[in-house]
Amino acid sequence: MKIDRSLFHPDYKPEPFWWEAARPGTAHSTDLPDKTEIFIVGSGYSGLSAALELARGGKSVTVVDALAFGEGASTRNGGGVSAGINLGKGISGTPGQNARGEDHKTLVTNLLRESLAAYEFVGELVERENIDCHYERRGRFVGAYSKAHYAGLVEKAEFLNHHLQMDATAIPREAQKTEIGSDFYHGGLAINRAGKIHPSLFHKGLLDACHRENITLCAHTKVTAIDGKVGNFTLKTDKGNCQAEQVIIATNGYTGALTPKLRNRLVPISSQIIVTEELPEDLALELIPNGRTISETPRVTSYYRLLPGDRRVMYGGRARFQDVPPDVSATLLHGMMTDRWPQLKDVRITHSWSGFVAMTTDALPHMGQEDGLHYCTGCNGSGVAMMTYLGNQVARRILQNGHSDSAYVDVEFPGVPVPLYRGSPWFLPIVGEYYRYLDRKDRRASA
Ligand SMILES: Cc1cc2nc3c(=O)[nH]c(=O)nc-3n(C[C@H](O)[C@H](O)[C@H](O)COP(=O)(O)OP(=O)(O)OC[C@H]3O[C@@H](n4cnc5c(N)ncnc54)[C@H](O)[C@@H]3O)c2cc1C
Repeated sequence: MKIDRSLFHPDYKPEPFWWEAARPGTAHSTDLPDKTEIFIVGSGYSGLSAALELARGGKSVTVVDALAFGEGASTRNGGGVSAGINLGKGISGTPGQNARGEDHKTLVTNLLRESLAAYEFVGELVERENIDCHYERRGRFVGAYSKAHYAGLVEKAEFLNHHLQMDATAIPREAQKTEIGSDFYHGGLAINRAGKIHPSLFHKGLLDACHRENITLCAHTKVTAIDGKVGNFTLKTDKGNCQAEQVIIATNGYTGALTPKLRNRLVPISSQIIVTEELPEDLALELIPNGRTISETPRVTSYYRLLPGDRRVMYGGRARFQDVPPDVSATLLHGMMTDRWPQLKDVRITHSWSGFVAMTTDALPHMGQEDGLHYCTGCNGSGVAMMTYLGNQVARRILQNGHSDSAYVDVEFPGVPVPLYRGSPWFLPIVGEYYRYLDRKDRRASA
């Protein structure tokens, strides 16, 4: 693909903008202990959130990461904080049963209620741990990609307000400039109960809180095998072995051969982001007057926002489902951004990066215990709130000797319906093209 270098600012960096404020590193890292009560694999939001709750419950906890702390999705994401889960959007249909055997309607209501609890949990955590991470609760606007999608959003507003008191309002196309300086959408949905955060400052705050709670933290420590059973696990790592009573797998989109049963039920998808140079104040204000995060309804979706200070745009999306070099994704994302905002055609890119999210076939996140190992996984691209919350729920389950009040516990976790699938999604380019075709068809029907 031809790269137009004029799109790139002279200070362009192919790495996350967020790392300028807090780069994933090894601060607080120590040697692997011989023994710990709880061993957590993965130092993103879910691993650290679980660790904090367990330490507060009196357990000795060790968190390890194969990379620097937080170098997975938790310092790479868009920082949108929402109560969103994609109920009913998965290819396997509606959720299966959970451990409590609730009927379908009760289960769905409880899953939704807990997604709102997840959103509230982030705010509580930020406040409790006094984390300075530009957390702003300014809401979210979901743009309708077609007329039919707008009709769906009108129904959704009623549903969200009735079941979750989400304070959602459908905004018709004629009025959408109150939310976004663009004619691209066929109206949309404004949701007040949503926010945005600086992802890597949030992560740093959690890491510092773990350090204050005397949690053992080991960076650049890859777990290569897990033997044993509850009460007596041996974790083999490239830095030596560690004995543990309980283990939590918190590896989400970076899940690999260590836990093949989990890996085979997850599809890792690349999500890519660019950041622009600073814009004139009046232009930035015109783009998103209420400072909300923006998402949209097509299958191949984009998510975007203004950065703290409200002068630069962060634009994210699935330029490609598989990982591509940052210069390539930057070029594609710049095109997608200017489809929505033609007024940004001469605005240059300062940062471009990507990371992996874990998709599930029922489009739901999952927590459970398998072969004795606790896990939470499957963020489906929306895990700032949900994975932080589920990490906490896994920890509470351990502290309560296996009991949990969460509706997410052991919800049936379907596999990927591709013969011999082993975590390597060769089919993504085909699926990506098919979804793009369906999106174009939906859009044409509105013309
Ligand atoms: C580009 C991008 C944009 C996103 N935007 C948003 C957004 O705007 N809003 C939102 O809600 N969500 C968003 N997400 C999703 C969100 O970032 C994730 O759901 C969340 O960070 C997951 O946290 P986690 O702790 O579960 O996993 P991660 O943060 O991915 O951490 C998993 C860790 O496990 C480690 N690991 C894996 N295997 C091993 C092993 N064998 N040994 C040791 N360590 C191991 C990895 O190194 C990694 O650090 C986005 C994600 C990406 C990539």
